[in-house]
Amino acid sequence: MQPIMQDVNLLYPHLNTPNSIGIIMHQKPDADAMGSSMALCMYLQALGHTVTVISPTNWPNYLNWLQYGNKVYDYEANKKSTEEALNSCAIIFCLDFNHFGRTKRMADYLASLKCTKVLIDHHQEPQVEAFTYGISNTAKSSTCEMVYDFISNAPTANKLVEANAITLPIAYCLYSGVMTDTGSFRFGSTTASVHTMVANLLTIGVVPNTVHENLFDNFLENRLRFMGHVLTNRMEVYYEYNTVLISIPNKDLVKYNISTGDTEGLVNLPQSIKGIKMVAIIIDRHEEIKLSFRSKGSIDVNTFARKYFNGGGHYNASGGSSKKTLQETVKDFVVAMEETKELANVQMC
Ligand code: 5GP
Ligand code: MN
Repeated sequence: MQPIMQDVNLLYPHLNTPNSIGIIMHQKPDADAMGSSMALCMYLQALGHTVTVISPTNWPNYLNWLQYGNKVYDYEANKKSTEEALNSCAIIFCLDFNHFGRTKRMADYLASLKCTKVLIDHHQEPQVEAFTYGISNTAKSSTCEMVYDFISNAPTANKLVEANAITLPIAYCLYSGVMTDTGSFRFGSTTASVHTMVANLLTIGVVPNTVHENLFDNFLENRLRFMGHVLTNRMEVYYEYNTVLISIPNKDLVKYNISTGDTEGLVNLPQSIKGIKMVAIIIDRHEEIKLSFRSKGSIDVNTFARKYFNGGGHYNASGGSSKKTLQETVKDFVVAMEETKELANVQMC
């Protein structure tokens, strides 16, 4: 039996000799998954390693600028060549996800690989028995913060030149993930050490406005029209449960030509309604019904997603899925909301 995951710091000596290394992020990656993967990729390349970066699925176009000329493989689109590349890897890093199920169709293949597997992640209840080395810290703002720590804490022998291990492209990748995963530095995970890290990234040369424009000001008109439609016609406010539900049929995604990443951020908007403590979005993505949850304060949406929708994530941000129809899933959600006593007990402010 494999020993339980050892501290990631014990991995440094194994990075001294050039090797083939794989980096895998979660399906439908966000800026934290893509940013942390690309930052680690560039760092490992600078140490002399050959690095293959893989996303289990496609990703939003607005993340392409984080790749800095490196190719990211889409497993779903290139299963054979991706597996060939990974088969020759001695070490595989899994970034920004807590169990192989988050890599969708890649999960069984990943589990079957015999190489050294390393976890760097901040989600709850990690599958520690599946990893040789790793760090899981749910108190961390983002996986990008954890990769920053991993690079910064490396013994001098592992740093090309100590002062410039974090190059400007690496700094941009790390900033992108920490900025988005903290909701632009507003969530509870925005600690003093987050701001210290960000100060260092700005000293290296990151211009925050550049990141914001690349990530948030790069959509097409259809996406804003879609948001308007959804907020007007698909949103239900349950004041007695301090909860907002948005349910989106597949025909809306087709009508507005919505693509991967276009629904990102929508779940945050109803949080601006006075008194709202939880927001749920249910989207009929055709191959599955996908759910996203956000909450404030003591409403634990990680447990909620796990208990009712086969999901998980963080205390105040989580997701799940359902194999039922949209209407059935909405009904399930309403029952789950009614059963969650805390939602009715939270006083409106
Ligand atoms: P989002 O709503 O932005 O897709 O996801 C919010 C958080 O929940 C992210 O940290 C994401 O990794 C996690 N998450 C989303 N969907 C799922 C899921 O189906 N299962 C699990 N375990 N976590 C999820
Ligand atoms: Mn993350």
